[in-house]
Amino acid sequence: MQKFNPEQAMCETRREFGEHGGVAPSISRSSTFTVMEPGTMPEIFEGLRGPYKDGCYLYSRHFNPTTNILARYLAAMEGSELAACTASGMSAISSALLQLCHCGDHIIASNTIYGGTYALLKDVFPQMGISTTFVDPSDTSGFKAAVKPETKVIYTETFANPTLKIADIPELSKISKKNKIKLVVDNTFTPVIVSPLKLGADVVVYSLTKFVNGASDIIAGAVCSGTDFIYQLMNLHTGRLMLLGPTMDPRAAFDIIQRLPHLPMRMREHSTRTLAAAELLFKMGIKTVYPGLPAHPQHKLAESMINQGYGYGGIMTVDCKTKDRAENFMSVLQNQEQFGLIAVSLGYFDTLISCSGSSTSSEISPDKQSEMGLSPGLVRFSIGYTGSLEKRLEQIERAVQKCLL
Ligand code: PLP
Repeated sequence: MQKFNPEQAMCETRREFGEHGGVAPSISRSSTFTVMEPGTMPEIFEGLRGPYKDGCYLYSRHFNPTTNILARYLAAMEGSELAACTASGMSAISSALLQLCHCGDHIIASNTIYGGTYALLKDVFPQMGISTTFVDPSDTSGFKAAVKPETKVIYTETFANPTLKIADIPELSKISKKNKIKLVVDNTFTPVIVSPLKLGADVVVYSLTKFVNGASDIIAGAVCSGTDFIYQLMNLHTGRLMLLGPTMDPRAAFDIIQRLPHLPMRMREHSTRTLAAAELLFKMGIKTVYPGLPAHPQHKLAESMINQGYGYGGIMTVDCKTKDRAENFMSVLQNQEQFGLIAVSLGYFDTLISCSGSSTSSEISPDKQSEMGLSPGLVRFSIGYTGSLEKRLEQIERAVQKCLL
C-alpha cells in the first residue's frame, strides 16, 4: 500500500547552504527584519508578501529563515506542502486544535494518548467550550458512532502512547472526509516509519523532542499540513501560532536540522533492536507489546501502514502487573545491569524506561487507565542503540530472570 519514501524525499528537497559556502546553514538570529521600502510592510501584514512568496521576512514569531529551513525539511519528510515549527510538541498540538475548533465544537479523540494531550482535551478545552469524546483507537466503529454535527476534529496518535494500539488512519480518513472533519495525527512515535498524510490525514503534529531530535536536549514541535492550514496558523491577525506565540528558537532549529539527515538510520536501528528485545521477552513468556511482533493484535494493520525499510519503531511495553514489580524491574535494569535510564520521554540514543501509569499517563484516572488497557505495572521502553545488541539482550534476560519469572 505504502509507496512513499521519506528518506528519498528528504534528499530531493533543496539543500540550504550557509553563508560563505558553509556546508551547514547559517543561523539567522534576528528577531526583526528590515524592508527596503515602507510600502512593503503593510503588504506583508495583508499576506500579499512573505517568505514563501518573495522571500520577505517580518518578525521571527511569524517566520524565521532558519526555522523555515527545518520546516521545509520536515515537510519533505512528511510529504506535506508546508510545515511550521513550534517550541514544543504540546504547543504544536494545542495550536493546531485551537485553529480548527472554536467554542461549541467537538473533538473525537483516541482514549489512549500522551497524558498531557489527554489532560488538555479533558480539562482545559472544556473551559473554552470545546468538548471531547474519547474512544478506543483499535475500534474504528467507535469514531463513526461518536460523530456529531459539531464535530470538527478526529484526533489520534499513530501508535498510541503507551499502549501501542494502532489507529487505522486510512479508515479514519474515510470517516473524516465523509463528515467534513479534519483528521489530526500525532506521529511522534513513528517519524519516517508511518507517513499519516499519505494515508489520508489532514494534519500531522510532532513532538520533535523525541526521535526526530534524538538527543534529549531540546524541547520542540511541528505541524505539517497543506499550505492553507499553515498559512492560517501563521496569519498575522488571527493565526493561533502567531497569537499564542510558541515560537521555536532558530538555534534549536539549527540543531535539529543537523540531526534530521540521520533520523532514518536511527529509526532503523531503534526498530531492529526493539524487535530483538521484544522477541526475546515474548519467547521468555513475558507479556510484551510491540507492533512488530506477529502476536500484536493489529500487526497486520501496522504492516499495511508502514513505509518499507524502517521497521516498527523504538517503543515496546512490558506488563509487570503491579507498580511495585515494575519499579523493581526498572531498578534492576538501571542499577544492577546498567541497561537503560529510568526517565520519562523517548527517542534518545540510550534506552529510557518509565512506568507510564504513575508518570506520563498519571493525568488519566486509574479506572480510565484500566479502560484503555493500561496496567499499573506497564513499563514503557524506548530502546536505544548504544552498546552491543548481544550484551543488551543478555542484560534484559538477566533482569527478567531476577524480577519477572
Ligand atoms: N505527543 C506524544 C506522543 C508525546 O509522548 C509527548 C511527550 O511525551 C508529546 C506529544 C508532548 O511533547 P513535548 O514534551 O515536546 O511538548
